[in-house]
Amino acid sequence: MMSGSDVQAGCFPVARLRPFWRRRSSAQSQSRVQEAPRIAEIPTAPTVDAAEVVRDGELPPYAHFANAGLYYEPGAHKTDVHSEKPPAYAAHALGDLFRADVMKTIEDKIDELDPELRELSLDILHHPELGWEERRTHDKLTKFMSTHGFDVIPHYLGLETAWSAVYTYKSTSAKALKEKPRVIGVNSEMDALPGIGHACGHNLIAIAGVGVALAIKAALEKHDVSGKVILLGTPAEEGGGGKISLLKRGAYKEMDACIMCHPSATPVDHAYLGPSLASQPIDVEFFGHGAHAAWAPWEAQNALDAAFLAYSSISVLRQQIKPTHRVHGIVSGKDWAPNIIPDYSKMRWIVRAPTWSEVEILRDRVKACFEAAAHATGCKLTITEGVGYKDLRQNNILGHQYANVVARYGVTTVFEEGMAASTDFGDVTYALPALHPGYSIPTVPNGANHTPQFTEAAGKAEAHKSTLITIKGLAMAGFRLLDDSAFAGEVRKAWEEQMKE
Ligand SMILES: [Zn+2]
Ligand SMILES: [Zn+2]
Repeated sequence: MMSGSDVQAGCFPVARLRPFWRRRSSAQSQSRVQEAPRIAEIPTAPTVDAAEVVRDGELPPYAHFANAGLYYEPGAHKTDVHSEKPPAYAAHALGDLFRADVMKTIEDKIDELDPELRELSLDILHHPELGWEERRTHDKLTKFMSTHGFDVIPHYLGLETAWSAVYTYKSTSAKALKEKPRVIGVNSEMDALPGIGHACGHNLIAIAGVGVALAIKAALEKHDVSGKVILLGTPAEEGGGGKISLLKRGAYKEMDACIMCHPSATPVDHAYLGPSLASQPIDVEFFGHGAHAAWAPWEAQNALDAAFLAYSSISVLRQQIKPTHRVHGIVSGKDWAPNIIPDYSKMRWIVRAPTWSEVEILRDRVKACFEAAAHATGCKLTITEGVGYKDLRQNNILGHQYANVVARYGVTTVFEEGMAASTDFGDVTYALPALHPGYSIPTVPNGANHTPQFTEAAGKAEAHKSTLITIKGLAMAGFRLLDDSAFAGEVRKAWEEQMKE
């Protein structure tokens, strides 16, 4: 899902695919050889015709794995809801709706907003913007929130595409006067992926944040409950760590808890409240010396060889790491030609593991592969670490409240299973109690997050419907934090316990 600086992971080309086992006829091969241009005429980029030779048509049957891309824990597809023991605190035990009157207000508000939210979601989907460039989306969402009665600060805390939208309600009831009003934070992500648009469904996350904030506002007003809602527009989740920048600038300081959600290609009608992976992006550059590849290769230090050696070493390293760990990367360079030994190469890697401390250890093992490659080829190297993401620590008290609500709509919540991806919201969960359910939206097999198929899925009516259910669950959890001081205390206590681990 994400990574540091501007590292991106997971696109795959939709070039015309032809089964690789389907060989061309010898006549075709022969004619291709005869038509091959002379060296001097070799174009710098492959022609469309050249690409056609490689693949086209259907993938072989064995290429179709189950559509369960995001799990990293064994036992995916389990359907035993609430398999974890519920917390002892009786007031939010399973099956307890907390307040039916508030539930009705939230439901009515979201049903009323449904067409507006749908329009907003499709508008964002059809105008994808990369991380830190979400200018149009920034303007669209800030306008939407101020139209709905929130105080908006655009370009929040010096970040061009970040924003905040705040609403405060003050009750005059005796209960309200005794207690300090609490603050719930909500996050809307906005960024898309290069070439494949909203292939992580952040258009849905954007409207989910908006919907949750508006539903809580409606409930505070209708039921005369004091509280403050801070909705943050958080840029650059797919690389760049927008939330980490906001966190460092104090955007989360006032919040008692923060909530958001993320769509995924998991089995339909499921929500997931497990952890995510901590991640560290690393860029490595190899600097060698160029030479004529035939005339004087002994004069060169081959930077591409260094990249290949590093790639091979890491491929071997993978056999000795845990199944829950991930190391994946790409090679790039510039002005490469087969008759010039490359004097420069760049690799971009992401190292992931279930906890931050494991990432730190794995990161050093990966760096050793880079150093060995530089040593073997006589190249110099520079290693640059991007913005690392911590793993997600979900708040189970908020989680059970959320699960109670979404169960009303037939959504099963699984607490133990998380996603083998990473998010900058992980850092937020280390700073304050927080909830980040992954919820399923229907997609095609092998069409999970970061594929063009998922972009299509994120625009479907079914995905919108799942998002509205998620909004209702989150809004209730957020409202309860503002209304129920015992619940808020339990939320805090659970987080403090978690942070001792
Ligand atoms: Zn993503
Ligand atoms: Zn995402």
